Amino acid sequence: AGNWKMNCDLAEMEELLAGIKNNIGSVPNDVQLMVAPSFTNLHPAFESLRETNVKVVAQNMHQSESGAFTGEVSPSMLKSIGIETVIIGHSERRSIFNETDAVLAEKVSTALKHGMTVVFCFGEELKDRKADQHFEVVKQQLKEGLFHINDADWDKIILAYEPVWAIGTGETASPEQAQEMHAEIRKMITEEFSKEIADKVAILYGGSVKPANAQEIFAKEDVDGGLIGGASLKADDFLAIAKSY
Ligand code: PEP
Repeated sequence: AGNWKMNCDLAEMEELLAGIKNNIGSVPNDVQLMVAPSFTNLHPAFESLRETNVKVVAQNMHQSESGAFTGEVSPSMLKSIGIETVIIGHSERRSIFNETDAVLAEKVSTALKHGMTVVFCFGEELKDRKADQHFEVVKQQLKEGLFHINDADWDKIILAYEPVWAIGTGETASPEQAQEMHAEIRKMITEEFSKEIADKVAILYGGSVKPANAQEIFAKEDVDGGLIGGASLKADDFLAIAKSY
């Protein structure tokens, strides 16, 4: 999954999409690709990728149905242009836009109510890892933001573990650190829900994934894919990462 953040105007995105579409045949069919453009680029991206199996995903949405929320976008607006999946809880939303676990829990509920798939992001900060608190912090984020859902809702959930210290920093969690956390996340889900659900849910790793390190990270048993920021803005790198799975 490529998170394009606040990058690419329309022309730049069209160039990026052309690059992806030109070589998409090189990616194995069983690799699900997703891209998350800005709100203004969602509709053109959806139209451009209509004939491919690349899903177009929103980076955020508001938790309310409609109303006096200037500058915000609702789930039905997204659905009306064909967008069925939304990223919720990205660390930049948490830290820069002050989205709390409680707000994120509401967003998850609203998205699920609209039948949308949620890519739920979470991850510890460097200070948490240094204090050996990373498992507790992640557990708390999952409990407060996500674990209010029902068993059946898990079919609509994709998890993205993104240690904040590895996002956009060039610093990557080692494959062993990613595997250790992903295994722990499955344990948390087993305890709160069931082993069946824990085994089935896809857990992506995010944080400075690039063509040079993707293969060894994706090779880990509990890593089911990646959420890619910077490297997803170059078609060749994004496809090379996709082929590493
Ligand atoms: C992200 O924004 O989700 C991300 C992982 O960014 P980057 O790949 O640039 O670290």
